[in-house]
Amino acid sequence: MSDKAYHITIVGGGITGLTAAFYLQKEMEAKGLPIRFELLEEKDRLGGKIKTWRHEGFVIEQGPDSFLERKTSAAQLAKDLGLEQELVRNSTGQAYIWHHDRLMPIPEGAVMGVPTKLMPFVTSELISWPGKIRAAADLFLPASKENGDISVGDFFRRRLGDEVIENLIQPLLSGVYSGDIDNLSLLASFPQFAQMEKQHRSLILAMKHSRPQSKVQGKPKGIFLTLKNGLETLVEGVESQLPANVFRKNTGVQELIKRESGGYTLVTKDGERIETDAVLFTVPHAVAEPLLRPYTSVPSLPEAKPHMVATISMAFPEAAVDLRLEGTGYIVPRNSGAKITACTWAHRKWPHTTPAGKALLRCFVG
Ligand SMILES: Cc1cc2nc3c(=O)[nH]c(=O)nc-3n(C[C@H](O)[C@H](O)[C@H](O)COP(=O)(O)OP(=O)(O)OC[C@H]3O[C@@H](n4cnc5c(N)ncnc54)[C@H](O)[C@@H]3O)c2cc1C
Repeated sequence: MSDKAYHITIVGGGITGLTAAFYLQKEMEAKGLPIRFELLEEKDRLGGKIKTWRHEGFVIEQGPDSFLERKTSAAQLAKDLGLEQELVRNSTGQAYIWHHDRLMPIPEGAVMGVPTKLMPFVTSELISWPGKIRAAADLFLPASKENGDISVGDFFRRRLGDEVIENLIQPLLSGVYSGDIDNLSLLASFPQFAQMEKQHRSLILAMKHSRPQSKVQGKPKGIFLTLKNGLETLVEGVESQLPANVFRKNTGVQELIKRESGGYTLVTKDGERIETDAVLFTVPHAVAEPLLRPYTSVPSLPEAKPHMVATISMAFPEAAVDLRLEGTGYIVPRNSGAKITACTWAHRKWPHTTPAGKALLRCFVG
């Protein structure tokens, strides 16, 4: 391709940057666009937070382990990479909450912690009688007239009371964002709940209406997908299908200069200067914000401090683990004093990750 070709530089080789590169290449090929592009990645590997360790028959995810099927873009990427037959769905089963040093079943019908079935909630030992009565007030409380944003914690506390929040909703929802629900913006993280209150007033009634009905042979169908050989298969798929010279690893960007003549100069951490026509940043906000600050008003987020999260995977011979409880794992409320926030029984939730006769436990800390 000629040097006159429009030059695009993607900064960041996580799944966002890789996906952008893959579809850019497809568009170029389909439409014969006069474009050349490269992807700059600071580390010596691609994938960013996606990292799979394949070891002695185990498929161990060190970062994300799956994606929601209803968010169709990841499954579409797998299909476009020719990996559709590699997609696997999670097995479903009872999930538990660590409560007073015991594993208690999450009541059937609790959607994101909001009870939608009467009997399982009424008979659950997770919530005291005053807590249950307070939660039932959601059926009668008026909708808030406020239109502004509040924290997820404040929103649910107003509708369902403290106990349901602490014992059910907080451990379930903060597992999704690894954050404190009292510091999470409702409109940024769960806008559907604000909408539900506006439309239906009661969250319990709204959730009852919107509960997914899909079932496989009477068992609820899993809502997550991953790939048989781990999520890193997506990363390897993109890397293998694009020309090798697209990827420049060990190339961290430390400065962005907007040229008066048009286009940009990127300065790498090794001092190299890369001239380009357009830049696509797919790096964390904390990296992008100072690079873009001189040219555009990227909101700085001083209040939103990133949280550290660690995953610990432990493999055992089956005989060494108490496997009497059926199910796929448990979550831990913040008031329990435990160090972990959740434990997935990966050999049950994702049977393909674990060789026969072994158990694989994946815990989250932070
Ligand atoms: C423990 C854990 C579990 C998770 N579980 C799930 C899950 O199950 N499902 C789900 O959907 N999501 C999950 N997530 C979130 C998900 O992993 C991320 O949303 C996603 O991987 C982000 O991808 P990204 O490409 O946007 O960013 P990243 O993966 O962070 O990629 C950014 C890339 O930019 C590179 N970079 C940084 N600075 C520079 C620079 N100056 N110059 C060049 N390159 C730079 C980095 O090295 C990195 O490779 C999880 C996250 C964690 C941490």
